[in-house]
Amino acid sequence: MPEYKAPLRDILFARDELLGYPEHYRSLPGCEEATPDLVRSILQESAKFCEEVLAPLNRVGDEEGCKWSEGGVVKTPKGFKEAYQQYVEGGWAGLASPAEHGGQGLPESLAVALGEMIGQANWAWGMYPGLSNGAKRTIHAHGTEEQRNIYLTQLASGRWTGTMCLTEPHCGSDLGMLRTKAEPQIDGTCKITGTKIFISSGEHDMAENIVHIVLARLPDAPPGTKGISLFIVPKFLPDADGEAGKRNAVACGSIERKMGIHGNATCVLNFDGATGFPIGPPNRGLNCMFTFMNSARIGTAMQGLASAEVAFQHATRYARERLQMRSLSGPKAPDKPADPIIVHPDVRRMLLTARAFAEGGRALIYFCAKQVDVAHRSPGEAERAQVESLLALLTPIAKGFLTEVGVESAYLGMQVFGGHGYIAEWGMEQNLRDARISTLYEGTTGIQALDLLGRKVLQTQGRTLMSFTQLVRQFCEANETDAGICEFIEPLSELNKEWGELTMKIGAAALRNPDEAGAAAFDYLMYSGYVTLAYFWAAAAQRAAKKRSAGTTEPGFYTAKLQTARFYFQRILPRTRAHLAAIQSGAGNLLDMKEVDFLIDA
Ligand SMILES: Cc1cc2nc3c(=O)[nH]c(=O)nc-3n(C[C@H](O)[C@H](O)[C@H](O)COP(=O)(O)OP(=O)(O)OC[C@H]3O[C@@H](n4cnc5c(N)ncnc54)[C@H](O)[C@@H]3O)c2cc1C
Repeated sequence: MPEYKAPLRDILFARDELLGYPEHYRSLPGCEEATPDLVRSILQESAKFCEEVLAPLNRVGDEEGCKWSEGGVVKTPKGFKEAYQQYVEGGWAGLASPAEHGGQGLPESLAVALGEMIGQANWAWGMYPGLSNGAKRTIHAHGTEEQRNIYLTQLASGRWTGTMCLTEPHCGSDLGMLRTKAEPQIDGTCKITGTKIFISSGEHDMAENIVHIVLARLPDAPPGTKGISLFIVPKFLPDADGEAGKRNAVACGSIERKMGIHGNATCVLNFDGATGFPIGPPNRGLNCMFTFMNSARIGTAMQGLASAEVAFQHATRYARERLQMRSLSGPKAPDKPADPIIVHPDVRRMLLTARAFAEGGRALIYFCAKQVDVAHRSPGEAERAQVESLLALLTPIAKGFLTEVGVESAYLGMQVFGGHGYIAEWGMEQNLRDARISTLYEGTTGIQALDLLGRKVLQTQGRTLMSFTQLVRQFCEANETDAGICEFIEPLSELNKEWGELTMKIGAAALRNPDEAGAAAFDYLMYSGYVTLAYFWAAAAQRAAKKRSAGTTEPGFYTAKLQTARFYFQRILPRTRAHLAAIQSGAGNLLDMKEVDFLIDA
């Protein structure tokens, strides 16, 4: 199994050189403590923990999986609990939690960097603290002071972990059909009754208590999504001191056997009149849960980046060592019996594809993380509204697009290993199996596509789209005279214009026939993803070109950046043509066929 190395150099490039994080922290209230020195030492310590503690457990987690036993007890794989203890003792759980609740109060974007490395080292393990982060944000945004004092403090310490309970057997994408009941009690609590399925980290042995954030329906609530409320349902009820006390009536009925992420327990949770504490206003639960879901969506986008990074770094090391056949243009390693496979153009196609998605995806995610810092901390209302708009647009793109290309990268990573990629020993088949869930949970790609095109773009008359295309336009205008990077600026500028025009055409077609929007949505999501990444690759190329001409001690790093940008523009970006053609072909080729004719022999 190859060793994981945290991509610290590229994380620093994305954050400091591309996105201007040092200035961002200096100018944002409450972030001043995050000095470049402190950030660097936190990143180095994170890397050490992930490389030395979490990565060695990745395969153990896959092979051993979680074990359920009678009474709803779940045992995590060997070493998971101890690693979590180290995480808690290191203070990692509260890195970005508010200081008044025992956290370190550092910027959220710093926790994103920690999350990136955790996810790459061991995705299944990372889902336990990962879901706690969403629970913390939800309680912080919508909880009462008392709820914050108890739950946020315990979650920030890492002694308790969190979950997100939406899915039921008959409803996944369509939460309007949710049935779990909430019966109000005299003391203001509710009795929660129902079954939730597929709940990640729903039961385990790593923490003292588990805080379930649960969607349920009050009596006489309006049907559909407007009648859903939100509740905190702890596994153990807090006692008078805010410690885990009496057992609540929620139990893990079973855990799922599944394709990947074996080290994370995917649970059926039975709520049998469990005590739930309302959070946020009645019937506005889905709105409040969006705080959790948006955080989880960026978290899942990170899985796309993780799958690509793991594929890229392991496959590159392998391709440098594996000797097979000679280069078509003559031997490159004449002293050896064959050339390393990295000399072959097709192997390079696969490596560079994974690299372009990993590094481009990293830039997109750290850009989003920067906007989250501003949304939470900026005193300026207009600035907060501006970044909320950007985040509204970029969240479904990051989740939907990056997970699709993450799975593609994991597939290519395995392909580089040839038959050895199919063998467990090398870890590439695990990467592919683990990656596969990312396009499914937290809203499938189809649902992200509808959210992007319908809710985010068409319903705002393109305003959210413009918040990003304006940024791209300004970047292109500022660099249009730079001959050194015109190979990036010109196509980006054209695509940026085309994106707006295409959106207007889809909007007009959807007014005549709403199915046109549904038929365009997936291709629109992918088209948008490729254009979005083109912006970040053009910006990376611009920074790299500047560094090279100013003189640098790392010419290899910046030259490779420019070359990867060129690869992206010349070999990946043309995929937008296929998505454009598919969109322009309209809904007929999807909808004309009668349902009964789909399966002739049925
Ligand atoms: C390992 C794992 C972990 C999970 N963790 C959690 C968790 O922690 N908490 C939680 O609440 N849930 C969790 N889930 C559930 C997950 O979020 C859902 O499975 C997912 O949202 C899809 O719902 P579904 O499975 O019911 O599919 P369905 O909603 O039945 O969808 C089936 C297919 O139909 C498509 N589809 C549905 N409606 C439309 C539409 N209107 N337009 C176009 N296409 C459509 C979908 O894209 C999909 O391809 C997890 C699932 C798994 C497998």
